[in-house]
Amino acid sequence: MEETTEEKKSLNFIEQIIENDLAEGKNEKRIHTRFPPEPNGYLHIGHAKSIVLNFGLATKYAGKCNLRFDDTNPETEDEEYVNAIRNDVKWLGFQWDAEFNASDYFQKIYDYAVQLIKLDKAFVCELSAEQMREYHGTAVTPGKDSPYKNRSIEENLDLFDRMRKGEFPDGKYLLRAKIDMASPNMHFRDPALYRIRKKHHYRTGDQWNVYPMYDFAHGLSDAIEGITHSICTLEFEVHRPLYEWINNTLQTPTRPQQIEMSRLNLTYTVMSKRKLMQLVNEKHVSGWDDPRMPTVSGLRRRGYTAQAIREFCERVGISKRENLIDVSLLEFSIREDLNKKAPRVMGVLHPLKVVITNYPEGQVEELEAVNNPEDESAGKRMVPFSREIYIEQDDFLEVPAKKWFRLAPGAEVRLRYAYFVTCQEIIKDAAGKIVELRCTYDPASRGGNSPDGRKVKGTIHWVSASEGIGAQVRLYDRLFTHETPDKGEVDFKELINPNSLEVITAIVEPSLKLAQAGVSFQFERMGYFCVDKDSTPTQLVFNRTVTLKDAWAKIAEKI
Ligand code: ATP
Ligand code: MG
Repeated sequence: MEETTEEKKSLNFIEQIIENDLAEGKNEKRIHTRFPPEPNGYLHIGHAKSIVLNFGLATKYAGKCNLRFDDTNPETEDEEYVNAIRNDVKWLGFQWDAEFNASDYFQKIYDYAVQLIKLDKAFVCELSAEQMREYHGTAVTPGKDSPYKNRSIEENLDLFDRMRKGEFPDGKYLLRAKIDMASPNMHFRDPALYRIRKKHHYRTGDQWNVYPMYDFAHGLSDAIEGITHSICTLEFEVHRPLYEWINNTLQTPTRPQQIEMSRLNLTYTVMSKRKLMQLVNEKHVSGWDDPRMPTVSGLRRRGYTAQAIREFCERVGISKRENLIDVSLLEFSIREDLNKKAPRVMGVLHPLKVVITNYPEGQVEELEAVNNPEDESAGKRMVPFSREIYIEQDDFLEVPAKKWFRLAPGAEVRLRYAYFVTCQEIIKDAAGKIVELRCTYDPASRGGNSPDGRKVKGTIHWVSASEGIGAQVRLYDRLFTHETPDKGEVDFKELINPNSLEVITAIVEPSLKLAQAGVSFQFERMGYFCVDKDSTPTQLVFNRTVTLKDAWAKIAEKI
């Protein structure tokens, strides 16, 4: 008994609705959801939240989930997006039960429109867009009936048929529902159902000159597919009465229930396809899959795993209240996943040459290194060590600060998996810049172990100069300098971070030579990096997914 109450408590509000419906035997206890993207852009992390939810509910309640392309705007939709969307959903780890398109139902939806006219619930209106606005009223004043509202059913049928045949130019007529121009709900004020658009559609070609509006097509598509729970974002709450009016008036065979939840909003991110499209078209980023984009394809290229994205979506949860999620929660999710999975390697991002003066010239020895301290089964590898190595510029200070345990004049540090070295001499160029360090090593400290119990606190990473390989590394930062770039008064593009990408040449250990695109590594002490698709056998290219520093960890513990 106790346990059931506990379980109930942790259900989110949509699961509660579903479990109540199941208990009442609604829809013959069927659960059928859908993910309905419009193929007018690439999916973003907000869509991922909807995917995880819709497919997750279907799995949890042994139901089904459709993938439906909501393709009712011929001018903006394209096959390219369809393919990218399918690919992203699969990559996220989901398989749809059936794939449909709103355009599969264009004839059925048209027939429903004819039926509405016959029920005297729709009319053909020829007010201009400007007159429409005038007749529409405002939130505080009622609208006025269109002078065309009282056309006869015959006349409406005839005009609608001629709209379909292409006898009129775009914008000349609209088919509108006859509901109530005085309704406090603006969406009830005789909303448009069909518009004339003489445009080529990527699936139906030039077959149609009229296209259904979103509200009309969406509810009917849900009903046609037998969707039981139609989940959308909060801004559609005010559309729900219309959604229900359409299906009830037309007595559709099934009556899906629309449920609204809050959108996912992330700090330092814009999350609308229209805005992301602007970033792409105006070349602020290299494409939809630029690793700085919040798109599924961008995150993938950045090195995010599907599992981390799914975990993130679960962690964010669902609610009815608009909220803004800290982007560091997303970073926390990928760190957590890669910490378990990513092999450790050594890579020096900002190299400083070190010559170990008492190490035999020309000698190269192989030292044993652990691949993943979190996963013993990942095994070990050999890393070459030689007389000349590179260390990180930041690991040396000429005048050490207090509690500085890394390298400094006269100081001793441990080279990870290798030896203790002591800095004996600094070489500078004419401008005074440090270009090389001369060190000595203690041969008895092989493997990084103290030979005599003497304490060496600092451990730094390194790469052999003769064996290491040069790699291009792309360091990414937030794309925007402002927490909510599209909520303020200035255009979001003015808030683009001019330093969101820094390209450097790093030196990495030779085991990475054959690393394949898409594979992730932890560069010890530096962060997680994944091989970019631009990588070639002669030029390695890495994207930094995320640094190791974990600002979110403390906050996450409290969630
Ligand atoms: P955008 O404004 O980015 O184009 P959209 O809602 O118009 O978003 P659609 O392709 O119509 O994009 O959305 C497909 C599904 O994904 C819808 O069910 C929508 O509710 C959901 N969705 C879109 N953006 C988010 C988001 N930020 N958070 C949660 N769900 C979202
Ligand atoms: Mg949309």
